[in-house]
Amino acid sequence: MTSSAADRMHAISADTRHTVEDVLEYARRRALYEDVPLDKPLTPRDLERLASGSITPEGIGSRRAIALFENVLAPACVSTDHPGYLSFIPSAPSKASLAFDVVVSASAIYGGSWMEGAGAVYAENEVLHWLAREFGMPAGSGGVFVQGGTIGNLSALVTARDAARRRAAEEGRTPPSRWVVVCSAEAHSSIASAAAVMDVDVATADVDENGRLHGEAVARVLDEHGDAVFAVVATGGTTNFGIVDDIAGVGAVARERGVWFHVDGAYGLAAMLVERMRPAFAGVELADSLIVDPHKWLFAPFDACALIYREPALALSAHTQKAEYLDTITGKPDWNPSDLAIQLTRRARGLPLWFSLATHGTAQYRATIEYGIDLARRIADEIEQRDGLSLVRDPQLSVVVFRREGWTLADYEAWSDRLLEEQHAFVVPSSHADEPVLRFAIISPLTTFELLTAILDTLV
Ligand SMILES: *Cc1c(COP(=O)(O)O)cnc(C)c1O
Repeated sequence: MTSSAADRMHAISADTRHTVEDVLEYARRRALYEDVPLDKPLTPRDLERLASGSITPEGIGSRRAIALFENVLAPACVSTDHPGYLSFIPSAPSKASLAFDVVVSASAIYGGSWMEGAGAVYAENEVLHWLAREFGMPAGSGGVFVQGGTIGNLSALVTARDAARRRAAEEGRTPPSRWVVVCSAEAHSSIASAAAVMDVDVATADVDENGRLHGEAVARVLDEHGDAVFAVVATGGTTNFGIVDDIAGVGAVARERGVWFHVDGAYGLAAMLVERMRPAFAGVELADSLIVDPHKWLFAPFDACALIYREPALALSAHTQKAEYLDTITGKPDWNPSDLAIQLTRRARGLPLWFSLATHGTAQYRATIEYGIDLARRIADEIEQRDGLSLVRDPQLSVVVFRREGWTLADYEAWSDRLLEEQHAFVVPSSHADEPVLRFAIISPLTTFELLTAILDTLV
Protein backbone atom coordinates (compact mmCIF):
# COMPACT_ATOMS: atom_id res chain seq x y z
CA MET A 1 0.00 0.00 0.00
CA THR A 2 1.35 3.44 -0.84
CA SER A 3 1.48 6.06 1.85
CA SER A 4 -1.09 8.16 0.02
CA ALA A 5 -3.50 5.24 0.07
CA ALA A 6 -2.87 4.83 3.79
CA ASP A 7 -3.45 8.55 4.23
CA ARG A 8 -7.14 8.20 3.43
CA MET A 9 -7.67 6.48 6.73
CA HIS A 10 -5.26 8.29 9.00
CA ALA A 11 -4.71 11.81 7.74
CA ILE A 12 -6.79 14.61 9.24
CA SER A 13 -8.80 15.38 6.12
CA ALA A 14 -12.33 16.64 5.68
CA ASP A 15 -13.43 13.02 5.26
CA THR A 16 -11.81 11.63 8.38
CA ARG A 17 -12.95 14.66 10.34
CA HIS A 18 -16.56 14.00 9.32
CA THR A 19 -16.20 10.36 10.20
CA VAL A 20 -14.94 11.11 13.69
CA GLU A 21 -17.56 13.77 14.25
CA ASP A 22 -20.39 11.55 13.03
CA VAL A 23 -19.30 8.68 15.23
CA LEU A 24 -18.86 10.84 18.31
CA GLU A 25 -22.17 12.53 17.65
CA TYR A 26 -23.88 9.14 17.58
CA ALA A 27 -21.98 8.08 20.73
CA ARG A 28 -23.06 11.30 22.43
CA ARG A 29 -26.70 10.72 21.53
CA ARG A 30 -26.66 7.09 22.61
CA ALA A 31 -24.94 7.89 25.90
CA LEU A 32 -27.53 10.57 26.64
CA TYR A 33 -30.70 8.66 25.66
CA GLU A 34 -33.41 9.56 28.16
CA ASP A 35 -35.30 6.38 27.43
CA VAL A 36 -33.03 3.61 26.31
CA PRO A 37 -35.02 1.37 23.96
CA LEU A 38 -35.03 -2.27 25.11
CA ASP A 39 -34.72 -3.68 21.57
CA LYS A 40 -34.46 -7.35 20.67
CA PRO A 41 -32.50 -9.76 18.51
CA LEU A 42 -33.33 -10.42 14.88
CA THR A 43 -32.88 -13.77 13.16
CA PRO A 44 -29.76 -14.37 11.03
CA ARG A 45 -32.09 -14.40 8.03
CA ASP A 46 -33.56 -10.98 8.82
CA LEU A 47 -30.14 -9.49 9.42
CA GLU A 48 -28.89 -11.01 6.19
CA ARG A 49 -31.74 -9.28 4.40
CA LEU A 50 -31.36 -5.93 6.19
CA ALA A 51 -27.66 -5.58 6.80
CA SER A 52 -25.53 -7.65 4.43
CA GLY A 53 -23.10 -6.22 1.91
CA SER A 54 -21.32 -3.64 4.05
CA ILE A 55 -17.83 -4.97 3.36
CA THR A 56 -16.79 -3.85 -0.11
CA PRO A 57 -13.48 -3.01 -1.86
CA GLU A 58 -14.29 0.71 -1.93
CA GLY A 59 -16.08 1.02 1.42
CA ILE A 60 -19.63 2.30 1.86
CA GLY A 61 -18.57 5.47 3.70
CA SER A 62 -19.06 6.39 7.32
CA ARG A 63 -22.49 7.96 6.88
CA ARG A 64 -23.97 4.78 5.49
CA ALA A 65 -22.10 2.60 7.94
CA ILE A 66 -23.34 4.58 10.92
CA ALA A 67 -26.88 4.65 9.59
CA LEU A 68 -26.72 0.88 9.17
CA PHE A 69 -25.52 0.52 12.75
CA GLU A 70 -28.02 2.94 14.25
CA ASN A 71 -31.06 1.79 12.31
CA VAL A 72 -30.51 -1.94 11.91
CA LEU A 73 -27.66 -3.41 13.95
CA ALA A 74 -28.02 -1.56 17.26
CA PRO A 75 -31.80 -2.21 17.52
CA ALA A 76 -31.00 -5.90 17.03
CA CYS A 77 -29.06 -5.88 20.33
CA VAL A 78 -30.94 -6.01 23.64
CA SER A 79 -29.94 -2.96 25.70
CA THR A 80 -28.35 -4.38 28.83
CA ASP A 81 -28.60 -0.93 30.43
CA HIS A 82 -32.40 -0.77 30.06
CA PRO A 83 -33.98 -0.58 33.54
CA GLY A 84 -36.25 -3.49 32.60
CA TYR A 85 -33.31 -5.72 31.66
CA LEU A 86 -33.39 -8.05 34.67
CA SER A 87 -31.96 -11.27 33.23
CA PHE A 88 -28.53 -12.82 33.84
CA ILE A 89 -26.62 -9.91 35.39
CA PRO A 90 -27.56 -6.59 33.76
CA SER A 91 -25.18 -3.74 33.05
CA ALA A 92 -25.68 -0.23 34.36
CA PRO A 93 -22.64 1.85 33.40
CA SER A 94 -22.63 5.34 34.87
CA LYS A 95 -22.76 8.14 32.30
CA ALA A 96 -19.24 9.15 33.33
CA SER A 97 -17.86 5.66 32.76
CA LEU A 98 -19.61 5.29 29.41
CA ALA A 99 -18.29 8.59 28.17
CA PHE A 100 -14.79 7.87 29.38
CA ASP A 101 -14.76 4.53 27.60
CA VAL A 102 -14.80 6.60 24.41
CA VAL A 103 -11.69 8.44 25.66
CA VAL A 104 -9.91 5.14 26.30
CA SER A 105 -10.59 4.20 22.69
CA ALA A 106 -9.64 7.61 21.32
CA SER A 107 -6.31 7.57 23.15
CA ALA A 108 -4.88 4.30 21.78
CA ILE A 109 -3.31 3.52 25.15
CA TYR A 110 -1.36 0.29 25.58
CA GLY A 111 -2.27 -0.89 29.05
CA GLY A 112 0.04 -3.87 29.27
CA SER A 113 3.25 -2.28 30.51
CA TRP A 114 4.40 0.56 32.69
CA MET A 115 6.86 1.66 30.02
CA GLU A 116 4.04 2.34 27.58
CA GLY A 117 1.00 3.06 29.74
CA ALA A 118 2.36 4.38 33.06
CA GLY A 119 -0.33 7.04 33.57
CA ALA A 120 -3.20 4.69 32.80
CA VAL A 121 -1.70 1.87 34.85
CA TYR A 122 -1.21 4.24 37.78
CA ALA A 123 -4.88 5.31 37.70
CA GLU A 124 -6.06 1.69 37.40
CA ASN A 125 -3.89 0.80 40.38
CA GLU A 126 -5.47 3.58 42.43
CA VAL A 127 -8.80 1.79 41.94
CA LEU A 128 -7.39 -1.69 42.58
CA HIS A 129 -5.72 -0.52 45.79
CA TRP A 130 -8.90 1.15 46.97
CA LEU A 131 -10.83 -2.07 46.33
CA ALA A 132 -8.13 -4.16 48.05
CA ARG A 133 -8.36 -1.97 51.16
CA GLU A 134 -12.16 -2.20 51.17
CA PHE A 135 -11.87 -5.98 51.06
CA GLY A 136 -9.40 -5.97 53.93
CA MET A 137 -6.45 -7.16 51.85
CA PRO A 138 -3.02 -6.21 53.20
CA ALA A 139 -0.72 -3.51 51.84
CA GLY A 140 1.28 -4.94 48.98
CA SER A 141 -1.79 -6.56 47.42
CA GLY A 142 -2.32 -5.67 43.82
CA GLY A 143 -3.65 -6.87 40.55
CA VAL A 144 -4.98 -6.07 37.15
CA PHE A 145 -8.20 -5.46 35.27
CA VAL A 146 -8.83 -8.37 32.91
CA GLN A 147 -11.59 -9.00 30.42
CA GLY A 148 -14.09 -10.71 32.70
CA GLY A 149 -14.64 -12.97 35.66
CA THR A 150 -13.97 -16.08 33.62
CA ILE A 151 -10.45 -14.93 32.71
CA GLY A 152 -10.00 -13.57 36.24
CA ASN A 153 -10.84 -16.92 37.82
CA LEU A 154 -8.70 -18.82 35.33
CA SER A 155 -5.72 -16.50 35.84
CA ALA A 156 -5.98 -16.76 39.63
CA LEU A 157 -6.22 -20.56 39.52
CA VAL A 158 -3.24 -20.81 37.16
CA THR A 159 -1.26 -18.72 39.66
CA ALA A 160 -2.45 -20.98 42.49
CA ARG A 161 -1.36 -24.14 40.71
CA ASP A 162 1.98 -22.62 39.80
CA ALA A 163 2.56 -21.75 43.46
CA ALA A 164 1.54 -25.28 44.54
CA ARG A 165 3.85 -26.87 41.96
CA ARG A 166 6.79 -24.79 43.07
CA ARG A 167 6.09 -25.50 46.70
CA ALA A 168 5.91 -29.24 46.08
CA ALA A 169 9.26 -29.02 44.27
CA GLU A 170 10.84 -27.01 47.10
CA GLU A 171 9.64 -29.53 49.66
CA GLY A 172 10.85 -32.43 47.56
CA ARG A 173 7.34 -33.85 47.12
CA THR A 174 6.25 -35.57 43.93
CA PRO A 175 3.42 -33.57 42.43
CA PRO A 176 0.05 -35.38 42.30
CA SER A 177 -0.91 -37.11 39.07
CA ARG A 178 -4.04 -34.90 38.98
CA TRP A 179 -4.35 -31.50 40.63
CA VAL A 180 -7.69 -30.71 42.27
CA VAL A 181 -9.60 -27.46 42.86
CA VAL A 182 -12.29 -27.49 45.55
CA CYS A 183 -15.49 -25.42 45.28
CA SER A 184 -19.19 -25.84 45.97
CA ALA A 185 -21.71 -27.23 43.53
CA GLU A 186 -23.16 -23.71 43.42
CA ALA A 187 -19.86 -22.20 42.18
CA HIS A 188 -19.97 -20.36 38.85
CA SER A 189 -19.57 -22.39 35.65
CA SER A 190 -16.32 -20.54 34.93
CA ILE A 191 -14.56 -22.57 37.67
CA ALA A 192 -15.36 -25.82 35.87
CA SER A 193 -14.36 -24.15 32.62
CA ALA A 194 -11.02 -23.04 34.11
CA ALA A 195 -10.44 -26.57 35.39
CA ALA A 196 -11.08 -27.97 31.92
CA VAL A 197 -8.63 -25.51 30.35
CA MET A 198 -6.03 -26.34 33.01
CA ASP A 199 -6.75 -30.08 32.79
CA VAL A 200 -7.32 -30.35 36.55
CA ASP A 201 -10.16 -31.99 38.48
CA VAL A 202 -12.95 -30.27 40.39
CA ALA A 203 -14.01 -31.67 43.76
CA THR A 204 -17.30 -30.23 44.96
CA ALA A 205 -17.99 -29.76 48.63
CA ASP A 206 -21.58 -29.98 49.88
CA VAL A 207 -23.52 -26.84 50.67
CA ASP A 208 -25.98 -26.38 53.53
CA GLU A 209 -29.75 -26.14 53.07
CA ASN A 210 -29.35 -22.45 52.18
CA GLY A 211 -26.86 -23.17 49.45
CA ARG A 212 -23.85 -21.93 51.43
CA LEU A 213 -20.46 -23.56 51.53
CA HIS A 214 -18.87 -23.95 54.99
CA GLY A 215 -15.41 -24.79 56.26
CA GLU A 216 -16.37 -28.25 57.57
CA ALA A 217 -17.52 -29.43 54.15
CA VAL A 218 -14.31 -28.13 52.61
CA ALA A 219 -12.22 -29.83 55.32
CA ARG A 220 -13.84 -33.18 54.49
CA VAL A 221 -12.95 -32.83 50.80
CA LEU A 222 -9.43 -31.77 51.72
CA ASP A 223 -9.09 -34.89 53.90
CA GLU A 224 -10.03 -36.95 50.90
CA HIS A 225 -7.74 -35.32 48.34
CA GLY A 226 -4.82 -34.20 50.48
CA ASP A 227 -1.85 -32.62 48.71
CA ALA A 228 -3.56 -32.86 45.33
CA VAL A 229 -5.65 -29.80 46.17
CA PHE A 230 -4.04 -26.59 44.90
CA ALA A 231 -6.93 -24.16 45.54
CA VAL A 232 -10.21 -23.71 47.38
CA VAL A 233 -12.80 -21.36 45.88
CA ALA A 234 -15.51 -19.59 47.88
CA THR A 235 -18.21 -17.61 46.09
CA GLY A 236 -19.05 -14.12 47.27
CA GLY A 237 -22.51 -13.99 45.81
CA THR A 238 -23.66 -16.79 43.50
CA THR A 239 -24.95 -15.59 40.17
CA ASN A 240 -28.30 -17.34 40.28
CA PHE A 241 -29.28 -16.43 43.87
CA GLY A 242 -26.68 -14.08 45.32
CA ILE A 243 -25.75 -16.57 48.06
CA VAL A 244 -22.57 -15.65 49.91
CA ASP A 245 -20.57 -18.63 51.20
CA ASP A 246 -19.21 -18.80 54.73
CA ILE A 247 -16.06 -17.12 53.47
CA ALA A 248 -14.44 -16.86 56.90
CA GLY A 249 -15.02 -20.55 57.64
CA VAL A 250 -13.79 -21.72 54.24
CA GLY A 251 -10.84 -19.33 54.31
CA ALA A 252 -9.77 -20.50 57.77
CA VAL A 253 -9.70 -24.13 56.64
CA ALA A 254 -7.76 -23.28 53.47
CA ARG A 255 -5.26 -21.28 55.54
CA GLU A 256 -4.82 -24.00 58.10
CA ARG A 257 -4.10 -26.57 55.38
CA GLY A 258 -1.81 -24.21 53.50
CA VAL A 259 -4.00 -24.25 50.38
CA TRP A 260 -4.54 -21.24 48.09
CA PHE A 261 -7.81 -19.46 48.88
CA HIS A 262 -9.64 -17.75 46.01
CA VAL A 263 -12.82 -15.69 46.41
CA ASP A 264 -15.03 -15.41 43.33
CA GLY A 265 -16.93 -12.19 43.93
CA ALA A 266 -17.55 -11.36 40.26
CA TYR A 267 -21.11 -10.27 40.91
CA GLY A 268 -21.57 -9.97 44.65
CA LEU A 269 -18.38 -8.65 46.20
CA ALA A 270 -19.40 -5.11 45.24
CA ALA A 271 -21.98 -5.35 48.05
CA MET A 272 -19.13 -5.35 50.56
CA LEU A 273 -18.76 -1.63 49.82
CA VAL A 274 -22.01 -1.17 51.74
CA GLU A 275 -21.17 -0.90 55.44
CA ARG A 276 -24.05 -2.99 56.79
CA MET A 277 -23.24 -5.80 54.32
CA ARG A 278 -19.63 -6.18 55.44
CA PRO A 279 -20.30 -8.92 58.04
CA ALA A 280 -21.69 -11.18 55.31
CA PHE A 281 -18.31 -11.04 53.60
CA ALA A 282 -16.11 -11.56 56.66
CA GLY A 283 -13.08 -13.62 55.72
CA VAL A 284 -12.44 -12.03 52.33
CA GLU A 285 -9.29 -10.62 53.90
CA LEU A 286 -7.94 -14.19 54.04
CA ALA A 287 -7.98 -14.51 50.25
CA ASP A 288 -4.83 -15.20 48.27
CA SER A 289 -6.71 -13.93 45.25
CA LEU A 290 -10.14 -12.51 44.53
CA ILE A 291 -12.17 -11.07 41.69
CA VAL A 292 -14.98 -8.56 41.31
CA ASP A 293 -16.45 -7.45 37.96
CA PRO A 294 -16.90 -3.68 37.54
CA HIS A 295 -19.10 -4.45 34.51
CA LYS A 296 -21.56 -6.11 36.86
CA TRP A 297 -22.26 -4.11 40.01
CA LEU A 298 -19.70 -1.32 39.88
CA PHE A 299 -21.42 0.59 37.09
CA ALA A 300 -18.66 0.28 34.50
CA PRO A 301 -19.15 -0.66 30.84
CA PHE A 302 -18.22 -4.08 29.42
CA ASP A 303 -15.77 -5.51 29.94
CA ALA A 304 -13.75 -5.45 33.14
CA CYS A 305 -12.88 -7.76 36.00
CA ALA A 306 -10.68 -6.60 38.87
CA LEU A 307 -8.33 -9.45 39.79
CA ILE A 308 -6.44 -8.86 43.04
CA TYR A 309 -3.65 -10.94 44.54
CA ARG A 310 -2.38 -10.92 48.09
CA GLU A 311 1.16 -11.50 46.73
CA PRO A 312 1.35 -10.22 43.17
CA ALA A 313 4.87 -11.64 42.82
CA LEU A 314 3.35 -15.14 42.67
CA ALA A 315 1.24 -14.07 39.69
CA LEU A 316 4.28 -12.62 37.94
CA SER A 317 6.11 -15.90 38.06
CA ALA A 318 3.08 -17.78 36.76
CA HIS A 319 2.12 -15.40 33.95
CA THR A 320 5.05 -13.33 32.67
CA GLN A 321 5.54 -14.10 29.00
CA LYS A 322 9.17 -14.45 27.99
CA ALA A 323 10.19 -13.40 24.50
CA GLU A 324 13.24 -11.68 23.04
CA TYR A 325 11.22 -8.73 21.80
CA LEU A 326 9.81 -8.25 25.31
CA ASP A 327 13.12 -8.43 27.19
CA THR A 328 13.38 -4.66 27.42
CA ILE A 329 10.09 -4.64 29.37
CA THR A 330 10.33 -7.84 31.42
CA GLY A 331 13.92 -7.07 32.45
CA LYS A 332 12.77 -4.06 34.50
CA PRO A 333 11.20 -4.10 37.96
CA ASP A 334 8.22 -2.07 36.66
CA TRP A 335 4.58 -2.86 37.41
CA ASN A 336 3.44 -4.48 34.16
CA PRO A 337 -0.24 -5.49 34.22
CA SER A 338 0.24 -7.97 31.38
CA ASP A 339 2.33 -10.14 33.68
CA LEU A 340 -0.44 -10.78 36.20
CA ALA A 341 -2.94 -12.72 34.10
CA ILE A 342 -3.52 -14.62 30.88
CA GLN A 343 -3.08 -11.83 28.38
CA LEU A 344 -0.39 -9.72 26.77
CA THR A 345 -1.81 -6.79 24.83
CA ARG A 346 -4.45 -5.17 26.99
CA ARG A 347 -6.92 -2.32 26.86
CA ALA A 348 -6.72 -0.03 29.92
CA ARG A 349 -10.18 -1.33 30.75
CA GLY A 350 -10.08 -0.11 34.35
CA LEU A 351 -10.01 3.54 33.28
CA PRO A 352 -13.77 4.06 32.83
CA LEU A 353 -14.27 2.94 36.45
CA TRP A 354 -11.36 5.11 37.60
CA PHE A 355 -12.88 8.18 35.94
CA SER A 356 -16.36 7.57 37.28
CA LEU A 357 -15.09 6.89 40.82
CA ALA A 358 -12.89 9.96 40.70
CA THR A 359 -15.81 12.04 39.43
CA HIS A 360 -18.54 10.87 41.79
CA GLY A 361 -16.67 9.66 44.84
CA THR A 362 -16.98 6.38 46.67
CA ALA A 363 -20.02 7.43 48.75
CA GLN A 364 -22.17 7.57 45.62
CA TYR A 365 -21.08 4.04 44.69
CA ARG A 366 -21.99 2.70 48.11
CA ALA A 367 -25.41 4.38 47.98
CA THR A 368 -26.16 3.12 44.47
CA ILE A 369 -25.26 -0.47 45.36
CA GLU A 370 -27.37 -0.23 48.52
CA TYR A 371 -30.32 0.95 46.44
CA GLY A 372 -30.27 -2.38 44.56
CA ILE A 373 -30.14 -4.39 47.77
CA ASP A 374 -33.05 -2.45 49.27
CA LEU A 375 -35.11 -2.71 46.11
CA ALA A 376 -34.57 -6.48 46.01
CA ARG A 377 -35.89 -6.70 49.59
CA ARG A 378 -38.94 -4.57 48.81
CA ILE A 379 -39.95 -6.49 45.72
CA ALA A 380 -39.37 -9.78 47.57
CA ASP A 381 -41.86 -8.65 50.22
CA GLU A 382 -44.30 -7.67 47.50
CA ILE A 383 -43.95 -11.09 45.84
CA GLU A 384 -44.67 -12.80 49.17
CA GLN A 385 -47.88 -10.84 49.51
CA ARG A 386 -49.24 -11.62 46.08
CA ASP A 387 -51.51 -14.61 45.52
CA GLY A 388 -50.00 -17.15 43.15
CA LEU A 389 -46.45 -15.92 43.59
CA SER A 390 -43.86 -17.15 46.07
CA LEU A 391 -40.20 -16.62 46.77
CA VAL A 392 -37.84 -19.51 46.18
CA ARG A 393 -35.44 -18.04 48.72
CA ASP A 394 -35.01 -14.80 50.61
CA PRO A 395 -32.73 -12.46 48.69
CA GLN A 396 -29.36 -11.77 50.30
CA LEU A 397 -28.01 -9.37 47.66
CA SER A 398 -29.90 -8.00 44.66
CA VAL A 399 -31.19 -11.17 43.01
CA VAL A 400 -34.80 -12.20 43.63
CA VAL A 401 -35.88 -15.70 42.58
CA PHE A 402 -39.56 -16.58 42.63
CA ARG A 403 -42.21 -18.75 41.08
CA ARG A 404 -45.65 -18.33 39.57
CA GLU A 405 -47.67 -21.23 41.02
CA GLY A 406 -48.85 -23.73 38.45
CA TRP A 407 -46.72 -22.53 35.57
CA THR A 408 -44.62 -24.85 33.43
CA LEU A 409 -41.41 -23.86 31.69
CA ALA A 410 -43.43 -23.38 28.50
CA ASP A 411 -45.71 -20.90 30.33
CA TYR A 412 -42.71 -18.94 31.60
CA GLU A 413 -41.10 -18.90 28.18
CA ALA A 414 -44.23 -17.71 26.42
CA TRP A 415 -44.65 -14.97 29.03
CA SER A 416 -40.99 -13.96 28.74
CA ASP A 417 -41.18 -13.80 24.93
CA ARG A 418 -44.28 -11.64 25.14
CA LEU A 419 -42.64 -9.27 27.61
CA LEU A 420 -39.74 -8.72 25.23
CA GLU A 421 -41.98 -8.59 22.16
CA GLU A 422 -43.97 -5.80 23.81
CA GLN A 423 -40.69 -4.10 24.75
CA HIS A 424 -41.77 -4.09 28.36
CA ALA A 425 -38.86 -5.91 30.02
CA PHE A 426 -36.32 -8.68 29.56
CA VAL A 427 -36.83 -11.42 32.13
CA VAL A 428 -35.90 -14.96 31.11
CA PRO A 429 -36.78 -18.04 33.15
CA SER A 430 -34.07 -19.68 35.23
CA SER A 431 -34.20 -22.99 37.05
CA HIS A 432 -33.57 -24.27 40.53
CA ALA A 433 -33.63 -27.89 41.68
CA ASP A 434 -35.20 -28.88 38.34
CA GLU A 435 -38.00 -26.37 38.82
CA PRO A 436 -38.41 -23.49 36.35
CA VAL A 437 -38.36 -20.15 38.18
CA LEU A 438 -38.25 -16.44 37.49
CA ARG A 439 -35.42 -14.23 38.51
CA PHE A 440 -34.96 -10.48 38.81
CA ALA A 441 -31.30 -9.45 38.87
CA ILE A 442 -31.28 -5.82 39.95
CA ILE A 443 -28.25 -3.66 39.18
CA SER A 444 -29.51 -0.45 37.63
CA PRO A 445 -30.48 2.47 39.87
CA LEU A 446 -33.02 3.30 37.15
CA THR A 447 -34.93 0.09 37.91
CA THR A 448 -37.82 1.15 40.12
CA PHE A 449 -40.27 -0.62 42.43
CA GLU A 450 -43.07 0.52 40.10
CA LEU A 451 -41.38 -1.01 37.07
CA LEU A 452 -41.03 -4.32 38.93
CA THR A 453 -44.60 -4.40 40.23
CA ALA A 454 -45.83 -3.64 36.70
CA ILE A 455 -43.99 -6.78 35.58
CA LEU A 456 -45.56 -8.79 38.43
CA ASP A 457 -48.96 -7.53 37.26
CA THR A 458 -48.47 -9.38 33.97
CA LEU A 459 -47.98 -12.73 35.74
CA VAL A 460 -51.64 -13.63 35.66
C1 LIG B 1 -20.50 -13.50 36.12
C2 LIG B 1 -19.73 -14.38 37.00
C3 LIG B 1 -18.53 -14.95 36.59
C4 LIG B 1 -18.03 -14.81 35.18
O1 LIG B 1 -17.72 -13.49 34.88
P1 LIG B 1 -17.68 -12.98 33.35
O2 LIG B 1 -17.30 -11.56 33.50
O3 LIG B 1 -19.06 -13.17 32.81
O4 LIG B 1 -16.67 -13.81 32.63
C5 LIG B 1 -17.81 -15.70 37.49
N1 LIG B 1 -18.26 -15.88 38.75
C6 LIG B 1 -19.41 -15.35 39.19
C7 LIG B 1 -19.84 -15.58 40.61
C8 LIG B 1 -20.19 -14.58 38.32
O5 LIG B 1 -21.34 -14.04 38.77
